[in-house]
Amino acid sequence: MKTVMNLVFLGAPGAGKGTQATRVCDRYGIPHISTGDILRANIKAGTPLGVEAKTYIDKGLLVPDDVVIGLVEQRLGEEDCKNGYLLDGFPRTLEQAEALSKFSDITYAINIQVDSDMVIDRIAGRRMCKCGESYHISWYNSDKCQKCGSVLYQRDDDKEDTVKARLEVYEKQTAPLIDYYNSKGALRNVDGKKGMEEVFEDIAEILG
Ligand code: AMP
Repeated sequence: MKTVMNLVFLGAPGAGKGTQATRVCDRYGIPHISTGDILRANIKAGTPLGVEAKTYIDKGLLVPDDVVIGLVEQRLGEEDCKNGYLLDGFPRTLEQAEALSKFSDITYAINIQVDSDMVIDRIAGRRMCKCGESYHISWYNSDKCQKCGSVLYQRDDDKEDTVKARLEVYEKQTAPLIDYYNSKGALRNVDGKKGMEEVFEDIAEILG
């Protein structure tokens, strides 16, 4: 394993980024930085950032680059990111990737590949917990979190209309990052169609 591991997770909404990110961060002891989680926490707390972000998130659109770039730059400057971090949901545009390259090196960009029809099913059946765990109704039939016991919920932006917009945004604005990281030699593809455990093993093999 490289000593400092700065990771970016790429993949369409529903590819399994959050699920795999949680496991990778547990195994390697690096912080899990999800811009979506940070934005949702701000919405819940009613901060000015949250109020602004909500207008975009509710429509399935991206929050403006300058807002998320500032947020990530500040977070990566914190002490716990010194020996590595995992970015989940950032960068999502070429502008974000360029900005990130100015304040940090990326060890690997792990791209979790899935088919688009699979993604719709995964998102529609996804249930979240406030502790960060996520479940799918096809394999989990309780409404309470296995880890902390809280009641699970469906994200507002996981509902059908917003999902379509998010997928379009992904294709247009985020998918080009695959070529971007490939050209830098940092891209590693994993087959996200496999089961959760197998995908994790494939990622762990890359990370060493
Ligand atoms: P996620 O939890 O990563 O699916 O993010 C949920 C929503 O938060 C996205 O659909 C965007 O509206 C917003 N968001 C999260 N990360 C970013 C980002 N890097 N750039 C812009 N918007 C973001």
